[in-house]
Amino acid sequence: MSTPPKGHVYWQCQRCTNCCRWVGDVKVSAAEVTAIAGFLGMEEQAFVDGYTRLRADRLGLSIIDREDHSCIFLEGGGCVINAVKPQQCRDFPNKWNFPGWRQVCEAVPVMVSSGERYADGHRVGGTGGEETGEGD
Ligand code: SF4
Ligand code: SF4
Repeated sequence: MSTPPKGHVYWQCQRCTNCCRWVGDVKVSAAEVTAIAGFLGMEEQAFVDGYTRLRADRLGLSIIDREDHSCIFLEGGGCVINAVKPQQCRDFPNKWNFPGWRQVCEAVPVMVSSGERYADGHRVGGTGGEETGEGD
């Protein structure tokens, strides 16, 4: 496990897909349902019926997972809906994380240079700054 450099650190995803395999919910908002259904060429209700379930907190929908807890959209080592994946996936680990997350996430710390900015938690305007998130 590497040590973060001093200064402003951005955690750069290494696409290990570990966060697509954890037990728990992958929240999808109504807008995300629309976007993902459109991306898959499905009717929204068909997407809801086929690919979502009630979240554990009962406050909305989660993408379904398989028996081994991996996300249904994790295939061949990548996310099949990467272009429209939920915000929860996009935001980890830079905008949210949890105690001990570095033991289960292979993201590496990189310094943010003066020419780089952040937008919605993601690195933009620099080089090699793809968004970070589950199954990137
Ligand atoms: S990045 Fe894709 S495969 Fe991974 S949890 Fe999110 S939706 Fe599922
Ligand atoms: S954000 Fe997810 S896919 Fe990226 S390195 Fe961390 S655990 Fe792996």
